[in-house]
Amino acid sequence: MSDCLFCKMVSGEITPDTLYEDDDVLAFRDINPQAPTHVLVIPKQHIATLNDVDEIHAPLVGKMVRTAAAIARQEGFADAGYRTVMNCNADGGQTVFHIHLHLLGGRPMHWPPG
Ligand code: AMP
Ligand code: ZN
Repeated sequence: MSDCLFCKMVSGEITPDTLYEDDDVLAFRDINPQAPTHVLVIPKQHIATLNDVDEIHAPLVGKMVRTAAAIARQEGFADAGYRTVMNCNADGGQTVFHIHLHLLGGRPMHWPPG
């Protein structure tokens, strides 16, 4: 997807502040952090929204979740706790249409979210 911001990060056209990368996923710091640590974990494959996640993507989404947990451990707040979020479409507040798992940590989170 040539016009997708996150695909441009995967291709190297845009260089994010990367924390982790392998053949399947990329994790980088959010440009507008909402917590002391705010990381986005994306699949390298373009999938527009959570509604487009199919059975075949289940291992990939599992890897995204495990990557977020590994980064939480690495950043030192795994035991204290953290939040992961995937926003979907307009009411969910999705602004970049390439799925991404937000990892927020380093402060207490509140519920319900806004
Ligand atoms: P969402 O609103 O759930 O689609 O999340 C999109 C996220 O991407 C927001 O938290 C933005 O701050 C973040 N974002 C947008 N542009 C960039 C960028 N160039 N580098 C890192 N994060 C970005
Ligand atoms: Zn994309």
